[in-house]
Amino acid sequence: MECSICQKILIGKFYQNTEDHSILCGRCIYLPVCNVCMKPIPFNAKTIEIALNKHICQACVSKTVLNQEDLREPLEKSIRAIFELYKIKITKLKIIKLMSYPKMLRAGRSISGSPFRIAGIANNENEIMIREGETKVSVLATVTHELAHLYQMQTWGLTKFKSMQPYLVEGFCEWLSIRVLEFYDEMTEAKKIADNPDNVYGLGARSYLQAEKEGRLENILSGGLGN
Ligand SMILES: [Zn+2]
Ligand SMILES: [Zn+2]
Ligand SMILES: [Zn+2]
Repeated sequence: MECSICQKILIGKFYQNTEDHSILCGRCIYLPVCNVCMKPIPFNAKTIEIALNKHICQACVSKTVLNQEDLREPLEKSIRAIFELYKIKITKLKIIKLMSYPKMLRAGRSISGSPFRIAGIANNENEIMIREGETKVSVLATVTHELAHLYQMQTWGLTKFKSMQPYLVEGFCEWLSIRVLEFYDEMTEAKKIADNPDNVYGLGARSYLQAEKEGRLENILSGGLGN
């Protein structure tokens, strides 16, 4: 039997990947993994390094957002879906741009929650920043989440936006992301957001899904659950 990465015959300890059942030798287990597929990257393989020790393997490059132009498609898809689904129009988006992984990490430190989890930022100057190196489908979700923040600030007003409980603010954005992903048949990604155990993002999303099911869409769009 040989290691699936370095192809050398296994001597001594080896490991089996529980996902795809591939076998790794005692050395390859320590290789850096691709940020997207999580598979070990063979020594000397060509990769795109998005941050120190954060790589995208060649097989994943085509499904990853790595330059500004890659933002166009998820942005257009999101704008189309939120209008078709809920007649939501974002009138004042000034700019949407990619931010490098380390830069987003630094920016995320001033925001509550883990900075590692922050994949996008929207501010009250109508700017959106999206973290580089994420998959196109997760960027579709992130873009929608940040567009939803702009909608909240622009439609509900900053005072209300700032006074609302975090789970109501973030839950709205997550709910909209779920609906947009479903609109494009990205059910796996949609389910991931809906099943998030987090009690701000996950709980918030589920609260809005429930409110929508109970016919309270009007309340949802004007800022709240209506219960
Ligand atoms: Zn190996
Ligand atoms: Zn990969
Ligand atoms: Zn948010």
